[in-house]
Amino acid sequence: MVVLGIESTAHTASVGLVDERAEVLAVASDMYRPPHGGIHPREAANHHVERLPELVRHALEQAKIRPSEVDAVAFAQGPGLGPCLRAGATVARMLALAWDRPLVPVNHCVAHVEIARILSGLDDPLLLYASGGNTQVIAHARGRYRVLGETLDIGIGNFLDKLWIELGGTFPGGPALEKEALEGRELLPLPYSVHGMDVAFSGILTATLALSAKGARRPDLAYSVEVTAYSMLTEITERALAHRGRDAVVLGGGVACNERLRTMVRTMAEGRNGTMFAPPRALCVDNGAMIAWTGHLAHEAGVSVPVEGSAVEPRQRTDLVPTPWRTG
Ligand code: AMP
Ligand code: MG
Repeated sequence: MVVLGIESTAHTASVGLVDERAEVLAVASDMYRPPHGGIHPREAANHHVERLPELVRHALEQAKIRPSEVDAVAFAQGPGLGPCLRAGATVARMLALAWDRPLVPVNHCVAHVEIARILSGLDDPLLLYASGGNTQVIAHARGRYRVLGETLDIGIGNFLDKLWIELGGTFPGGPALEKEALEGRELLPLPYSVHGMDVAFSGILTATLALSAKGARRPDLAYSVEVTAYSMLTEITERALAHRGRDAVVLGGGVACNERLRTMVRTMAEGRNGTMFAPPRALCVDNGAMIAWTGHLAHEAGVSVPVEGSAVEPRQRTDLVPTPWRTG
């Protein structure tokens, strides 16, 4: 059983091939990098339209799989940017029709959890999903993945990107800030914005830029931003673990590539006699393999849609998506 998965919710166009044992046979990705400023949905969608056919070919070649050996085609239905989602969905529909295979819609956030769940071997972990557009703490309960806490304003990655660009850098900001923060010496006071299991970042953005205008060193700013923002994420994750009576947490999303965040969450989880697992970086960031794997689970549970019923859902809520492959 081989499933091809297409991811195109935001910057990344990616095609993955996965088998029934969650063996990742191929991942072919290409990221749209805006020449300046943030993402422009139509420009990103154009990028995906241009690149996806080639990425499909690359993935098949990498995996040494013929189209006739692909059993189902999965695509990220939402949440994400409308034009970008439509680019991926169009390619998925075309392949499903051309190869006469079932078309399987997948929720992007659920896919982050499922790939981390299978790779970790953890049965029922909590997910800290920290990406460009999303920041959520997710756990499974009563047949759905539930969002226990989330950002009240912008996603953590978008916050880091915007901040770094304002400080004179270029996209993506997260990895550059991580390097810069290694040179930081002084922890500057920034607003610590935790509200129950929710967080907010725009106050830190404003305060950091104000400190920068007053002459604070950029490495100290980067260090202070990382410590503050990642402490907030660690705190809401710990609160969710405590409330849900769980002991395992997995990470997902591009920001989960960050070494400081990984260490902080691991230290917290192990301090509670629990465990933390972070997938390899290529499977933390947006990728077609997680869509393919979740597509496999959904397909096995009987999920598929006709082309006419395969509209994308830019605002699809994680907790509105049934998960028939999970029992209990
Ligand atoms: P995603 O939306 O999941 O594709 O992730 C993209 C986001 O991850 C961007 O906002 C990046 O700045 C951020 N990111 C990638 N690597 C790192 C890192 N090492 N530290 C912090 N943020 C990162
Ligand atoms: Mg993502």
